[in-house]
Amino acid sequence: MTVGDFTLKQTRRQFLSTCAISATSLAFSTDVQAQAEQKKRTIARIELFPVRFPTVMRFKFLESPKGATGRASVMIKVTADDGTVGWGESIPSQRWSYETLESAVSTLDHYLIPVLIGMDPFDLDAIHAAMNREIGPGFSTGAPITKAGIDFALHDLIGKALGRNLAELWDRTTPDTLTLSWTLNPVTLDDLEPLIEKGQAQGFRHFNVKVGPDPEFDIEMCRIVKRLVPDGFLWGDANGGYDLETALTVAPKYADLGMDVFEQPLPANQLTGYQALKRQGALPIILDEGVVSPEDLTEFIALGCCDGVAMKPCRCGGLVSARRQIEILRDKGLLFLGSGLTEPDISLAASLILYGAYDLNYPAALNGPQFLGASVITEPFKPVDGTVKIPKGPGLGIQVDESAVTALVEQSK
Ligand SMILES: [Mg+2]
Repeated sequence: MTVGDFTLKQTRRQFLSTCAISATSLAFSTDVQAQAEQKKRTIARIELFPVRFPTVMRFKFLESPKGATGRASVMIKVTADDGTVGWGESIPSQRWSYETLESAVSTLDHYLIPVLIGMDPFDLDAIHAAMNREIGPGFSTGAPITKAGIDFALHDLIGKALGRNLAELWDRTTPDTLTLSWTLNPVTLDDLEPLIEKGQAQGFRHFNVKVGPDPEFDIEMCRIVKRLVPDGFLWGDANGGYDLETALTVAPKYADLGMDVFEQPLPANQLTGYQALKRQGALPIILDEGVVSPEDLTEFIALGCCDGVAMKPCRCGGLVSARRQIEILRDKGLLFLGSGLTEPDISLAASLILYGAYDLNYPAALNGPQFLGASVITEPFKPVDGTVKIPKGPGLGIQVDESAVTALVEQSK
């Protein structure tokens, strides 16, 4: 399915590769596996760097009762016994889901790292099985944001060990850039126009709006956005902030205003509510918060709860799970949108490569560059004309500056 008449330009090659996805294996390409077999490695050391990236704009998920918190991140450096290093990062957001900076550190320190030392860093299925044994599930995968940090670090390590970009490990290619969406999260309607102008000044042409719980405010906000940006992709995300009656009332109004997709209108566990919204058919219903594992997604699709998913590898326990979910969506003809949790450098690199490699066809709501005021990599991501470069080097394609990491750790204390 596509939304309205909106699609980003796709080459014929990309289109054909999209069609072929269902036939591809989730394992790394066979020559990657053969290369890995030639030299067995083990995980020798895992170091943690808990930080808070400073923010440059207000965002409701980066606040606590004490005010703005910055963007929490536990950067993870994994070193193999041959000296190969991979970097990952866990990015909890306690007002978005239950994981915190402190819980990520203690989960890694006390439960995950002890079982990962000595394991084969290339055996990602065994790694995830071990992590899932130590931290069991709730409704779905337990502590997925924390586990995603390990998953990213090992993907980086594997790519660095073999001298190949992540996309190449999957037998895929990425375009040079990815189109981004600018996040609108105004406190008052008067704030809206200056926020849009700020995005437009940086070349952004597509906007995602945070809606819920006040439908009058939200409808007026969307009306203003559509007036100021008539041709942009308008993506509404309620983060579970409406009740069913309100969601059923506002969805047709949003459709009339020109909204393209309606994400997470209800709390994640209101499955019959999602069924009702999908039956109503006013707008494509997109899930985010409730979809953690591929099994969750399969169930939600079978129950008729959604038209697509806003993917986030950090929410899903990492790239292994996220890739499987994208393939499920493509197989079912459902929408694959690319989103995030205000990613700093390392997790942003992972998301950019994933979305580029899987031919994301809509603007990605990756708003780290919009909201964050620091970077720890040698070539920070800087949007140009509303797009950002997809890293092409080995692994996640970035070089972490460890002195910048340790400086940020000190600054965050
Ligand atoms: Mg969302």
